[in-house]
Amino acid sequence: MTVYVDDIHKYDSGPWCHMWCDGEINELHRMAAAIGLKRDWFQQKDPRFLHYDLRPTKREAALRTGAKYMPLRQWIASGLPKRMQNSREIQCPNCTATAKLIKVVRDGSVFRCSTCQVITVKKSDQPYTD
Ligand SMILES: [Zn+2]
Repeated sequence: MTVYVDDIHKYDSGPWCHMWCDGEINELHRMAAAIGLKRDWFQQKDPRFLHYDLRPTKREAALRTGAKYMPLRQWIASGLPKRMQNSREIQCPNCTATAKLIKVVRDGSVFRCSTCQVITVKKSDQPYTD
């Protein structure tokens, strides 16, 4: 399993890049914690691209800690994000335990919390953006 960062892009809010992973989402959280990111900053609006947004200094820290560089377009082109939909997990918005993906529907993904059983539907009708 590998954690990736992409190029730094300039946004209205300043320079940012993305950090994501190709395996268990907890590995991404571990990396985030290791470089001093808050769990609150985890971006999970789109279950196809669970990620953190990093400032350039945190990007450097991630690369020093074992993250690899990959352009986001290359990641999308790899087809891996689609295949990974079936193994995705999110944090349950109700109790913060892990909610597992149980179904992919046309415009989103359905997750069930393993602790409180609450069902969460995440819409994913937006194309990938970078
Ligand atoms: Zn729950």
